[in-house]
Amino acid sequence: MERFRAGGIEVCFGAGRRDWLKLSYPADYGLFARVQWRGFEFDFNLNGQLKWVGGKPPAWPDARERLKRTAANDFVYYAVFGYESARALTGAYYVPYTGRDDPEVFNERPFDRLFIGEALAAFDSLADAARDISASPPPGSHPRAVEFLSLAGRNGRNALAASAERLREIIGCSVPVLPPDAIEVDYEVVPVAVADGCSYQCGFCGFRGPGFNVRSPENVLSQIDALADFYGADLVNHNALLAAGNDALAAGAETIERAALAAYERFDFARSYHDGARLFMFGSAGALLGARKADLKTLDALPFESVVNVGLESLDEETLTALGKPLSASDAREALARAFSINSSMKNLRVSVNFVVGDALPERHYDEIKEALSDPALRRARNTVYLASLIGASPRRDTIRRLMEIKRASRADVFLYLFQRL
Ligand code: SF4
Repeated sequence: MERFRAGGIEVCFGAGRRDWLKLSYPADYGLFARVQWRGFEFDFNLNGQLKWVGGKPPAWPDARERLKRTAANDFVYYAVFGYESARALTGAYYVPYTGRDDPEVFNERPFDRLFIGEALAAFDSLADAARDISASPPPGSHPRAVEFLSLAGRNGRNALAASAERLREIIGCSVPVLPPDAIEVDYEVVPVAVADGCSYQCGFCGFRGPGFNVRSPENVLSQIDALADFYGADLVNHNALLAAGNDALAAGAETIERAALAAYERFDFARSYHDGARLFMFGSAGALLGARKADLKTLDALPFESVVNVGLESLDEETLTALGKPLSASDAREALARAFSINSSMKNLRVSVNFVVGDALPERHYDEIKEALSDPALRRARNTVYLASLIGASPRRDTIRRLMEIKRASRADVFLYLFQRL
């Protein structure tokens, strides 16, 4: 790390990992600036915006745990509660708590603990100090530290909230839930809306929105231009694009290709600090079944490693009806077969699928999933299944038992669906 001082504040500029590998010990990812202040450790992105908060006892309870601020200005607490089960349930060594839609299987409530408020109050005082020092730097201050403090001083909590509002304004929507596969890049996606709404209108879904609409090419390109300005110097810390929309796949291969290629160029993903480029999106079963071979080849040929996440919810007719999902069991099975076939034949394109778990669902629902996932042809590295716990439906032990049963029977990776947003 390079270290520079200004007015009693030391700023360390660090370069973390280029991959997004999940590790069992705390690791830094990407390029960042770090300041120790009042017992806490604050990491900033290259725009001088708060990114991570951590520290050591006594101010911060566990040096392995950290608080992340997202581009949407949400705070997410990365906890190591239930260390062993976290790995099995999520694929990572930590559980990202949002304080909103946390799965009931994790019964800790980190946001109820006092130290988070204390850390954020310390952040406010750091932003004030950064503003004062950069306005009239004391003799001996290093210009690089002063330049950073000037950025950080302009990014107090009100400015951070306004920045998140600007992001929503640029893409013309919020992203109420991210594809679960985005955990592979720690949810660090740049969102470009290609479509709004979803034509399925499932009864149980809280994210469906009115109707379905594809964004015009002009709209998509103007988002990309504005996003390049918005992310600015910190774009280099990104290598992942979210084609946003609850059924982005239904926008069509041409729309997705146009958006992905324009974003790849404008965001300069070829020169990202992180290795490779990633593309994430949601797709409905109908959009997956309706995609022609040529469409899939178009997506496979993009300069991205891409994952489409498809919510099937169940392979059992009665369960689908009870959920209010307008999808037949035979179409759900066909969509699953298509996902498996894409995963075994395409190089850069994968499809992951979601099923629901809940204590009121029939045994047959689970048997059907276990049987379908026990296909010996499935390769773990290419096939991922997420289990979403129906809100308010599953006592903790039941969800974990169901997940572990399906995991044991499955030749695919099986993880809990963690609801994160942007
Ligand atoms: S297909 Fe998915 S996004 Fe669309 S309404 Fe159903 S659950 Fe919601």
